[in-house]
This record gives sequence, structure tokens and C-alpha cells, in this order.
Amino acid sequence: MLCSVILRLHSKHAAPRPAPLLPARALARGVDAPPRPSGLSRKLSPNHTIQPTIPQLSSPNPCATIDEPFDSTPESPSAAGEEARRPPDPPRPPPAADPDVPQERKRSYRWTRRAAAGKRRALQRCAEGRSAREAAVMGDELELAADKHVGCIVTVEKKKDSFESLVMEHIRLNGAYWGLTTLDLLNKLHAVDSAEVVEWIMSCYHPESGGFGGNVGHDAHVLYTLSAVQVLCLFDRLDALDVEKVADYVAGLQNEDGSFSGDIWGEVDTRFSYISLCTLSLLHRLHKVDVQKAVDFIVSCKNLDGGFGAMPGGESHAGQIFCCVGALAIAGALHHVDRDLLGWWLCERQCRDGGLNGRPEKLADVCYSWWVLSSLIMIDRVHWIDKEKLTKFILNCQDKENGGISDRPDNAVDIYHTYFGVAGLSLMEYPGVKPMDPAYALPLDVVNRIFLRK
Ligand SMILES: [Zn+2]
Repeated sequence: MLCSVILRLHSKHAAPRPAPLLPARALARGVDAPPRPSGLSRKLSPNHTIQPTIPQLSSPNPCATIDEPFDSTPESPSAAGEEARRPPDPPRPPPAADPDVPQERKRSYRWTRRAAAGKRRALQRCAEGRSAREAAVMGDELELAADKHVGCIVTVEKKKDSFESLVMEHIRLNGAYWGLTTLDLLNKLHAVDSAEVVEWIMSCYHPESGGFGGNVGHDAHVLYTLSAVQVLCLFDRLDALDVEKVADYVAGLQNEDGSFSGDIWGEVDTRFSYISLCTLSLLHRLHKVDVQKAVDFIVSCKNLDGGFGAMPGGESHAGQIFCCVGALAIAGALHHVDRDLLGWWLCERQCRDGGLNGRPEKLADVCYSWWVLSSLIMIDRVHWIDKEKLTKFILNCQDKENGGISDRPDNAVDIYHTYFGVAGLSLMEYPGVKPMDPAYALPLDVVNRIFLRK
């Protein structure tokens, strides 16, 4: 696999790696857990034994009044011996009712014992029922509704007056990339007319600048230019492009400090560094930019937590980390990443529900399944994530009736999260989904076709 070859090549140049620094979650699971440093363990003398600290309770067994018969407490040995030495008592009449314990209260004790037993049985039934419900909610009984998602994607283009279609008007080219890549991952790219798609893609092209707009008649931007190139890669139709013109457009947006602007208006962001390097690499024109300067700018955006921000000093964010790690992978400069430190930060993104968030204290969201997992794969730390729980989280965000995947369970589905959900499952090797390249965000066979054919 080309990607693993690329990643292996990068790792050859990696700086000496520090001793593994594993997160608490990984240690708890025993995943590659290093031996505990001897300085941290308690040193005991050979004769020393650890006495467990038992809290002194007012009653030997506070549950006995409910769970145990009242007369079940064994007598002490001395009391038993005393009893044995005593001559047998003459037959006694049946004991009279204890005047201190009213009959009504005795009935109450018996009721309490029966109630406790019934309560235990009820709790057991409840636990069994709850685990069955939890299993359903957590996705134990779920599987990928691939055909429904394909139907959802194919029909979304026809609903031009729908809400989703209207709000995506300005990013239609991104939507095409998300939808068509999902179809390819599910082996259904033939469900669309490739000639029709390529014709529409090229109608968003600006021949004077060499860039693509988000829709017909919209301004050119590197964001849509990468989507156009990626879609043409899916259909193996890069021949439709004036490759030199498109590469010159992207290369012309590099700034003196190595950063990239998104368009002629000059906004700078590490997202644009990734987009530019990815586009140029897919077009085999990486030599048109100063790659070293591009790498230096990305490294200047690295934070003390191992993550990356949009600009120097910007807060670490999973989406931004994907862009920076992906750009460094494409540039052959992954040795700038502190893999253990960043891997720790990334795997801490997994929430209790199994989903991943983009920053601390945020809710889990299906789209981070891609941003976080792809980054972890590129730095070889994906085994620090609980894949089973994440798979269940994604599957539980499906609309199994109408197709599509939402950001989190029971929310409205959209094409963006449908793509990132399926892409996340692809990275976790879900059956029936094609494998994906974590750096180029395209199916692996497409990336291999581009780089191995040359
Ligand atoms: Zn999202």
C-alpha cells in the first residue's frame, strides 16, 4: 500500500523516539503498556504485609436486616462450649410472643425479607432488560445501511429546492466530493453518470486564473480546486484539466513565509497549506512551491500539547491537526511531529459514548472520526482508540429508513457527516467499505492509480 510505504519512508528520517508515553486509557487497557517505573512503586520490607483498611461500621452487616435471616448469625465458639457443658433443659412450652416486638412488626420484617428478595429479582430483570436496550442503542444490533446511504446520496442532487441543497449552494463542489467519494467507498460510483459529473465540474473552472469556484459562477478558491481535482481523480479524468494552469494557480498563492492564502483575498490558514500541497502532489507538481518553507510554516503552528493550530499560537484542533499532519506526510516531513504527545492528545478526544470530539470539553461528532483517526494512522498511534465503541457510535448516527448519517444520534443527516462517517468506518476496516488513504482523503486504489502509474 502506497500510503504505508510513504509513512515508512518518513519514519526512516524520524528523530530518535522518546520512551513511550502512554495515556491512562491505553495503560488501563494494557495496550503496549510499558513497565511501571520502579521509582513509583512502593518499597516494602520482606516482612511487611499490607493490611487492608476496613471502615468500621456501626453494624457488622448493614444489609443483614434485609438480606440475611435474623437468626443466621453464628454463635461464638466460647458461647457454644458453654452451651454444651450445661445440662439439658426440661421441655419448655412454646415461647410466648415477645412483648417487646409487636406481632405487626414481625410481619413487617418478614415482608421486608420477601420484598428484598423480590427487589433483587426485579433488579436482575431490570439489568438484563437495560443491557438489551443499551445493546440496541450502542449499535450491537446495527450494521452499515450502505444501500440506503447510496440512495440518499444519488437522490440529494435531484432535490434542488431542498433546504440542504440551498445551504450548500456555495460549496456544491465540496458536496460533490463528499457524496461521490462516499459512493466510491461503497463501490457504487457507477450509480452516477461520470461524463455528466465531469462536465459540471469543469463548468466551475476559471480558465483565466486556473482555480475552481464552489459552484457555477462562484469565485475561485483552493478549497474547491482541491475538491475538483479529487473528484476528477475518482473518475480517472485528470486529463480534463490544464494541469500546468491549475498548479500555477495554487503555487501562486504561497506567501513569503511559506504559508498559503486561500484565494486572492489573502486569508492565511494551515488548512490552505494542506490543500495546496495535496492538490500539487496529486497533479505531480509539488516542485512548483518551496516545500521546505511550507513545512517551516506548519511547524511554527505546533503547540506545546503536540497539536497544531490555524496560525502560529492558534489553539490545537483536530481538524487543523489533520491538515498539518497530512501536509507534513505529503511533504515527507512527519519527523517534526511528536507522535506520543500528539497521539495522547488525539486519543483523549474519545468520549464516553465512543464518539470523538474536536477539542476538550466538546461533544462527540461523527466528522471527527475522520479528522482524528486519519491523524492517528499517519503517526502510527491508531491502536490507542477504542475502535469498537467508535464504530457503534457512527452506526448509531445512521438514518436507517432514509439513509444518511448525522453528527450525533437522532440529529438530522447531511452529506458531510455521511461522508465522514463512512470514511471513519473505512479507516477502521469496516467490512464492505474500501480502504482509504489517510493523507490524500481518497480511496486507496485511486491514490495508488495516481502514483504508481507515473
Ligand atoms: Zn461534525
